[in-house]
Amino acid sequence: VREIRLAARPQGWPTAETFEMADVPMPEPGPGQLLVRNLVMSVDPYMRGRMNDVKSYTPPFALGEPLDGAAIGEVVSSPAGNVPVGSFVVHGLGWREYAVVDAGRARVVDAADSSYLGVLGMTGLTAYVGLVDIAQFREGDTVFVSGAAGAVGSVAGQIARLRGAKRVIGSAGSDEKVRHLIDDLGFDAAFNYREAPVRKQLRAAAPDGIDVYFDNVGGEHLEAAIGSLTKYGRVAMCGAIAGYNETSAPAGPRNLALAIGKELNLRGFIVSNHNRRMPDFLADVGPWVRDGRLRARETIVDGLENAPAAFIGLLKGENTGKMLVRLAS
Ligand code: NDP
Repeated sequence: VREIRLAARPQGWPTAETFEMADVPMPEPGPGQLLVRNLVMSVDPYMRGRMNDVKSYTPPFALGEPLDGAAIGEVVSSPAGNVPVGSFVVHGLGWREYAVVDAGRARVVDAADSSYLGVLGMTGLTAYVGLVDIAQFREGDTVFVSGAAGAVGSVAGQIARLRGAKRVIGSAGSDEKVRHLIDDLGFDAAFNYREAPVRKQLRAAAPDGIDVYFDNVGGEHLEAAIGSLTKYGRVAMCGAIAGYNETSAPAGPRNLALAIGKELNLRGFIVSNHNRRMPDFLADVGPWVRDGRLRARETIVDGLENAPAAFIGLLKGENTGKMLVRLAS
């Protein structure tokens, strides 16, 4: 059976040489473990950080070892019988066709539904916690979301709309994504950040300023948002993808001192420290997903062998909504 390993630590952008496919014997579950046949796995921007040999909130991937990350699979063997064979589980050992998972680290779900890896999983929770708890979103706020056509951003913008934002503005990297934000997801305004400076486009989209900025990107976007934030404006610092493949640290926002006079609140967060909010999130957002008021696109790539390309594609913006890899059906 096949797994994908970290072959080399990328300097700058990851390439095909960053990864290697290996054939390994079928793993055997021990006591309290499950053998899981993976069906769908997630690729996520944070995995880029784990390819560097630096200490962070998650340990780095080890060279020559399989990568890991969220996946859904079907239980094919369960020696202790605590999770029935045929159950579907969400767990943390993607990037391989078969995983041996500690039963206590697997969450049983009702179906091999990819939304458990996206809008109804960690991705959606990130959007909810970032907007509601970290940015303290209030009805009537004008909200700007960067990376707005991506997995987290698209959900954050729609939660803001559904909770009564005055205006929701998104930025994304293509005209088609801009169209998607306005026509399909109900954003009030959107722009393509590649076309003109973010600062100018944000000013035009929000002439009266923004109250909340949901930051997935950092860099130029963060600087522009600081310029447009109103007094007591709030920022959820969720990600800084514009810098993930840079070999030197970017300069800080040149206008950061504006945070003093405007009395801004810029606050970072890591979603895994907010798992206690999952029930509230599912109660609030689940119904909108089921009745179609909140839409979550997925971009699905087929085959474990294409997972590296899916991951690199994610960093380049080839996805709309959540980027997933289907391993089997
Ligand atoms: P996305 O689905 O948003 O995919 C990444 C997107 O980033 C791409 O589609 C691309 O879209 C955009 N992008 C890439 N490079 C740039 C750039 N230079 N400038 C602007 N946009 C760029 O991924 P996720 O929704 O999973 O993650 C979004 C962000 O949230 C990431 O920064 C991630 O690290 C962070 N995150 C943080 C968590 C936390 O706990 N704090 C948890 C989960 C995610 P485009 O075509 O628009 O450029």
